[in-house]
Amino acid sequence: MSEFNKAKMFEKMGISADVYEYGEMICNSLKERFERIDQVAEYNQLKVINAMQKAQVQEACLMGTTGYGYNDLGRDTLEKVYADIFHTEDALVRPQITCGTHALALALMSNLRPGDELLSPVGKPYDTLEEVIGIRPSKGSLAEYGISYKQVDLLEDGGFDYDGIEKALNSKTKLVTIQRSKGYQTRPTLSVERIGELISFIKERRPDVLVMVDNCYGEFVETIEPTDVGADMVVGSLIKNPGGGLAPIGGYIAGKKECVENAAYRLTSPGLGKEVGASLGILPQFYQGLFLAPIVVASALKGAIFAANLYERLGYSCLPNATEDRFDIIQAITFGTEDGLVGFCEGIQSGSPVDSFVTPEPWPMPGYDSNVIMAAGNFVSGSSIELSADGPLKPPYAVYFQGGLTFPHAKYGILKTVQALKDKGVIDTVNLKNK
Ligand SMILES: *Cc1c(COP(=O)(O)O)cnc(C)c1O
Repeated sequence: MSEFNKAKMFEKMGISADVYEYGEMICNSLKERFERIDQVAEYNQLKVINAMQKAQVQEACLMGTTGYGYNDLGRDTLEKVYADIFHTEDALVRPQITCGTHALALALMSNLRPGDELLSPVGKPYDTLEEVIGIRPSKGSLAEYGISYKQVDLLEDGGFDYDGIEKALNSKTKLVTIQRSKGYQTRPTLSVERIGELISFIKERRPDVLVMVDNCYGEFVETIEPTDVGADMVVGSLIKNPGGGLAPIGGYIAGKKECVENAAYRLTSPGLGKEVGASLGILPQFYQGLFLAPIVVASALKGAIFAANLYERLGYSCLPNATEDRFDIIQAITFGTEDGLVGFCEGIQSGSPVDSFVTPEPWPMPGYDSNVIMAAGNFVSGSSIELSADGPLKPPYAVYFQGGLTFPHAKYGILKTVQALKDKGVIDTVNLKNK
């Protein structure tokens, strides 16, 4: 280690010696936890390679098609790979699925019919789904098509309200939607094991009901996925975990053959289904991104844990906290002041490989009742598997951040936030030294 000087490199990159040393101290204390994450990543890496080998991924799969896209070997093989990873009968993995919300809307709209009821037994779903379902009236919502919705909130302590769920299940209930990640709420993220318990409870009572899991931010965090514990479908975005930072667009639905078929007929057209949909030139990024995803997810997890440990010691409340187990890649930190939130976002931005010279400004984002600040210097616009942060400018001034394609970048970005807050006088140097 004598031939290079890391501290000096960090100094050149705007990290002062006290911040650097504080970061090293935290990092060193996390070796065992990081080792456990590496073990999970190694297992998942093999799972992905195994699926690619079994499906006989070959050079020709990387070519792609144009026009109608009939007989697109790469697309069809990739769907087999996804189905194998999630242990499902089939999968739909397409660049024509524009984002996570679209994938979820597609799965719901194609598997529900007028008169059916949708049930969420884990409280309010992700913001953008409110309009899909029609909780907030919207053109083209499920409600407009005569599909009703029931919701059972989690109990005070984060547990499932089994009595409430039992009562909510009725003869109209056709599909149950479970969101794995807490998203930007304060409830705990659900482990796959807990999702399995909930699914068993539902299937014991209503084996005919379909269970869909919104898998966003959860893929490859554990060694099992919701479809390993009884979910009929998992749905997610390729610009989050499974795209590995390389997929520039896309979504997936993996599940029972009939569920996937329904989704394909809705995405393209009745009668055409999975047979059409040219992959164009995008397959190399889909394959390589999926190949890298287990390690990328591990890097993001380490970044989240590093930040929680670093900020908790500085006296800020972190969710999840410094020591608890992780079931998704999102980290929330409560600053309590506008300066804290803004400084954090400025630090993330200035530590980015792209647009590092830009200063993030709070702006009135549609759908929010206060200004929102966002930081992201991304290769793929809006990608949240890349290091990114945002938060609404209102009490309690919490920042939500996630991602980091490599741990060294996540670590550097987070140290840049500490530096920014120190330079603004939000964190004092004496404090850092005494930790
Ligand atoms: C990101 C996310 C979505 C929506 O995905 P987009 O790609 O932003 O449309 C849905 N549910 C959860 C839990 C998410 O994290």
